[in-house]
Amino acid sequence: MVPKINLITAKTILTRSGLPGSDWVINPYNGCLFGCMYCYAAQIALWKHPDEKWGTYLDVKTNAPELLGKELAKLEKRMKTKNFGSIFFSSVTDPYVGLESKYRLTRKCLEILADFGYKGDISIQTKSPLVVKDIDILNKIKDVAVGFTVTTLDDEVSRFLEVMAPPVSSRIKALKRLHEAGIPTYAFIGPLLPHFTSNIKKISELLDKLQEVGISEVWFEHINLSPKIKERLFSYLRKKSPELIADFNRADTQKYRDELEDVISQAMKGRNLKMGLGKVIHHRILPKKK
Ligand code: SF4
Repeated sequence: MVPKINLITAKTILTRSGLPGSDWVINPYNGCLFGCMYCYAAQIALWKHPDEKWGTYLDVKTNAPELLGKELAKLEKRMKTKNFGSIFFSSVTDPYVGLESKYRLTRKCLEILADFGYKGDISIQTKSPLVVKDIDILNKIKDVAVGFTVTTLDDEVSRFLEVMAPPVSSRIKALKRLHEAGIPTYAFIGPLLPHFTSNIKKISELLDKLQEVGISEVWFEHINLSPKIKERLFSYLRKKSPELIADFNRADTQKYRDELEDVISQAMKGRNLKMGLGKVIHHRILPKKK
């Protein structure tokens, strides 16, 4: 299916974040063509695109860089500082969704932040190796880190659930490139995939590989099976692999989460790896923002 691309003019670009660990969020796009079957953003986007299928459209905020420049100047005037707190790219899109190579909005926003001399932490989280093209800009930003979502080491599994996203092997290679270029990197293991990434062997192998490519920080998140996400994910599983449904259902219990957290503690033991927020994130009990 050919995706629908909407060129839009945004009213704001630097918005207050509701996510733990970040104060602001920048979404140069709305929607995401990677179409992951577990995506939490799909339900958030419903109010803007109630009749469209997640993964089939992208709103391109063509004025994002100019707007960011204006908003930074305004905040600097008001707050008398070049550090307004941490900024996260992105919460309802992937900042390096394929069309970033055409529109370059994430790159231009990073250029604006570099030229402004932003002094707070900037974190970019993606599934796309496209980010390595921006190493030159990333090197100009004071406190920047790039994180890759890595839910498995198996390309077949990533292709199955992260349908249009670049395969996980290409993400691992990109992490290595970024590390070699001196950019701090981290990995986001979320959601922890029931059936696929749920035992000590798989999680240990994943951590071994991530450490091999220079990761020093890792975040974990339990799968979010709130009703809208579950509806979309389970209708996909019913068609493609109904035998997995029992395992995914089981993952939505406290007992499962407790056991998985024990497994993660075991897998993390003795490693020189920092755990983001110091715990496994669960959407229903989000840690308080710092
Ligand atoms: S890459 Fe992120 S925003 Fe895009 S579909 Fe996947 S989970 Fe959702």
